[in-house]
Amino acid sequence: MPGMLLTIQEAGVPKVSVHGPKGTVEIFDAIKKFVMLQALKIDEAKCDESEPYTDPIMSVSYVPITKSSAQEKESINIGEEVVDNINYYDYTTNSNGKRVFDNAVEKERKAQKVEEKSGKARISSAMSYICRLHPRAGKLSLEKCLEKGVKPGPLFGQLKAGQDITLPDGTVILSKDVCSPTTPGPIFLIVECPLEDYLESFVNHPAFAQHQATMSNENDTPYCIIHFTPQRVMDDPRYVEWMGKFDCNTRHIVVNEENECMGTEAIHRHQHKLHILHSEIFPFLNEKCFQKKTRANDLPIIHRPRTHHTVHLQPELRFDTENEVLLHPEEYINEVYEIEGFSESLKDLQTNINILKERLSVGKEYPKIIMLGTGSMVPSKVRNTSGILLRVDKNHSMLLDCGEGTFGQIAKIYGNYRMENIIKTIKAVYISHLHADHHIGLIGLLKEREKVTQDPLYLFAPPYIAAWLQLYHVRFEPILHQMTLIPNNEFFMDTHEPAEYKYRNMYKTLNVQAVRTTYVKHCPHSYGISVTLHNGKKIVYSGDTMPCKNLVKLGQDCDLLIHEATMEDDLSEEAKMKFHSTTSQAIQAGEQMKSKFTLLTHFSQRYSVIPPLPNDDDNGSKLNNVGIAYDNMHISLSQLPLLPLMYPTLKLMFIKHYEEIEERAARRHRMTVDL
Ligand SMILES: [Zn+2]
Repeated sequence: MPGMLLTIQEAGVPKVSVHGPKGTVEIFDAIKKFVMLQALKIDEAKCDESEPYTDPIMSVSYVPITKSSAQEKESINIGEEVVDNINYYDYTTNSNGKRVFDNAVEKERKAQKVEEKSGKARISSAMSYICRLHPRAGKLSLEKCLEKGVKPGPLFGQLKAGQDITLPDGTVILSKDVCSPTTPGPIFLIVECPLEDYLESFVNHPAFAQHQATMSNENDTPYCIIHFTPQRVMDDPRYVEWMGKFDCNTRHIVVNEENECMGTEAIHRHQHKLHILHSEIFPFLNEKCFQKKTRANDLPIIHRPRTHHTVHLQPELRFDTENEVLLHPEEYINEVYEIEGFSESLKDLQTNINILKERLSVGKEYPKIIMLGTGSMVPSKVRNTSGILLRVDKNHSMLLDCGEGTFGQIAKIYGNYRMENIIKTIKAVYISHLHADHHIGLIGLLKEREKVTQDPLYLFAPPYIAAWLQLYHVRFEPILHQMTLIPNNEFFMDTHEPAEYKYRNMYKTLNVQAVRTTYVKHCPHSYGISVTLHNGKKIVYSGDTMPCKNLVKLGQDCDLLIHEATMEDDLSEEAKMKFHSTTSQAIQAGEQMKSKFTLLTHFSQRYSVIPPLPNDDDNGSKLNNVGIAYDNMHISLSQLPLLPLMYPTLKLMFIKHYEEIEERAARRHRMTVDL
């Protein structure tokens, strides 16, 4: 959601109204804290059952449904309530590294918030929608008008608008005689019955009856119904019976967890190209999802659409599968080989890889790093927001940051079947700081994880994350029971009581030797982390930070530093202003801590396809242990030295993007000189 809101804001939309069960807007209010959304106003629309929403295209009737079981208010226990009044985008006050809070104001706010949160019950309603397009006016027949003596001019408009007119000679011309009849607007329903508990209210709601076969006049028959209902509820006999009450020509489009086809062709195109460089580091994503999906017991009226399936509603009613995502691997490969010099560059790369393999042992051993999201705040087509899956061994993983869509990224890589096993391996999630692009995917992941395992999950995060999770738990869905929160400061590197003793069982569950954290220089409560495995390998992740001495200390002699490199070197001022690092600053951090390898990530969307590295000529020797991370990259520590070899071929592969970046930089230089 934050990704979408940011994109809407960037497009210049000033205001968004949220339609849904009362209280839905609270989630937007809470999220706004973690995202820069100052230019976008979000408010809650009044969703009155008796007052359909109307815009120039259609009218929408609200169909609220409620839970049949008693309210859960009494059972909601969140322990000690946490209040978070920190402004995570307060860059002006934290430029000196310190923030001053007005205690009186904070206390007052705190009292007010506590009352707000615990005084409210969980939202126990869901909303479906009946949408009807406005009738379409008939077409004016020019021929008939002229035949009846109507001269071109304003009278044409009146006739078209359905008004009868009188000519100067007194002749009355009826609109219906010169226009084709008005066509009633088609109807479609968007429905969701989230749990069995809502079924009674859902199937008995009188608003649906008007559109079911037994009651309807022809114009009230829906053309299609889009079901967001989970499969378990759809399989309930009451739901099946409810569906059976609609006209047999009404089509049912099901969009639920059984649909696997996700993402766009662009992601697969990109992965197919990278795959040419190294098939293990850039494996294909799950492509089984592109096969046409039918469930064995699906009724013939059920359609399971794939991405970009289109339903045309006007001027004609039509299902259109032409734009559905299909893969064209040959086309992607050809695109690359058509680039002048690519074949030679690839040959050189393969030779260099073979030479290196003779010198070093390169394998697929654990730990493995799977990069799930390597973009910054606004996601791009090929870079999701932050997420790194550290696979300690076959059965143990840790997730380092969990931006929006992290679960979707795991599903995209592994497909529904293998994904379950991977999710089960995740024993801990670490959140570096509370900017949305680093933690908003957590709740989605928790919900999916709960479906496959009840094992305890450790959450290492800034302590104030509790305020957000508690709000979600109290108002939306229970989630707190799934995790044990250990604040990141429990792992501080210079603490007197190393966490290994205090949290012995936790370390056992994770199968790691040590976790250490430090504050880094970004928003309030931002952390860097190091994870040391039982084989002594040390992996460090910067989170978001500008150059930071603490991090260098934390990361001393590590085997791998994963460091943010949001901006190119030219934009060091902007990087400083936003408390991020440039590429060279990230590389320097690696040098200062003597990391064996530095993997750059968190690239601004400006460089999503091919981020620029500092000039090879100046830094040739320094860049042989620096690599660029890509989404869906799988890499073991011994494979890391292969990455620098790939950069020249990558540059060529994405030459157009590379040239664009260079041009932009040149333009900036010219502007600076002109000034
Ligand atoms: Zn950040």
